[in-house]
Amino acid sequence: MFPNPDRREFLTLGVGLFVGLSLPLALRRRVALVRRTLPLMGTLAEVQVAHQDERFAEAAIDAALAELLQVERAMSRFRSDSDVGRANLGAAREGVAIGAATATVIGAALRWAEASDGRFDPALGAASELWDVLNRHEPPPAGPVQRLAGRGFWRKVDLRTRQGREAVRFEDPEVHLDLGAIAKGYGIDRATDALRARGIRHAIVTVGGDLFALGGSPEGGPWRVGIRSPHDPHALAGSLAVRDRAVATSGDYERFFQWRGVRYHHLIDPATAAPRRTPVHSVTVLADRCMDADAAATTVFGLGQDEATRTARRLAAGAEVIPLT
Ligand code: ADP
Ligand code: MG
Repeated sequence: MFPNPDRREFLTLGVGLFVGLSLPLALRRRVALVRRTLPLMGTLAEVQVAHQDERFAEAAIDAALAELLQVERAMSRFRSDSDVGRANLGAAREGVAIGAATATVIGAALRWAEASDGRFDPALGAASELWDVLNRHEPPPAGPVQRLAGRGFWRKVDLRTRQGREAVRFEDPEVHLDLGAIAKGYGIDRATDALRARGIRHAIVTVGGDLFALGGSPEGGPWRVGIRSPHDPHALAGSLAVRDRAVATSGDYERFFQWRGVRYHHLIDPATAAPRRTPVHSVTVLADRCMDADAAATTVFGLGQDEATRTARRLAAGAEVIPLT
């Protein structure tokens, strides 16, 4: 990380991160920087593409945003017609058919659960629903929370192929699938692939601060990405130089309520089914794929540097981890 970055060099990007982006005048005549923003997955998605042909860039952005919309339609737990919504309504009774992309993401999520001994649990949606940190002002009653603690729900998700189609079945009626900690990253990877397939070489795809930096900066050199300070939404804690790399952040400072001096945030400790109590306020993970960076950030939130790095690298070789207290 570069110390003492200057906030003015960066454009604000959703939550969590900033991206350094300003084309010098000479370059601006040859390269257009096209950016578009869309509310998506409960936050903001933004695609920025550098290309000499603005219309070409716009068409590529259309394709990238279409991928993100498709992932949201398939994997949102807030829609009853998504794969996840239909599974949550029916998979405790019978196998529910899901799309190939959703099966890929559930498979990856279950691998992160296994590799982290259940620190990551994509089947613990009931706890997130109970805590509902965006709407609540005080904790839910202790009884229902304790009932969900230490259950290892991810072990009760049966993902299989039946007659050539992917299907999911829950072996515990309290399983609620929640891909909120991994689907964003997967969507970013898909959107980035769509840009690549159209010949784009310099771009940033971000959803809620998780991002993939495609190629380097059009100015030459890497993209510069600023990490937001957990203590001040307008300040930078540091900055990164990235090229063809994913960056994802999980923090306790965006989605939470405060009660009697304690911050109850949206990152659940499966052992207690409650927001994780930790002096760490955010963790940023760099990896080759955003799906892994996203899942890893949620997984290692609350761990110290060494254990966090070891855990992230179990499934994402070469991952780098930056915890902030
Ligand atoms: P954000 O959505 O703020 O970018 P994350 O990527 O860390 O942050 O995902 C947080 C979401 O993941 C929560 O809102 C919840 O839906 C889900 N989640 C919370 N705790 C866990 C956990 N231990 N394992 C898997 N998913 C979790
Ligand atoms: Mg995540």
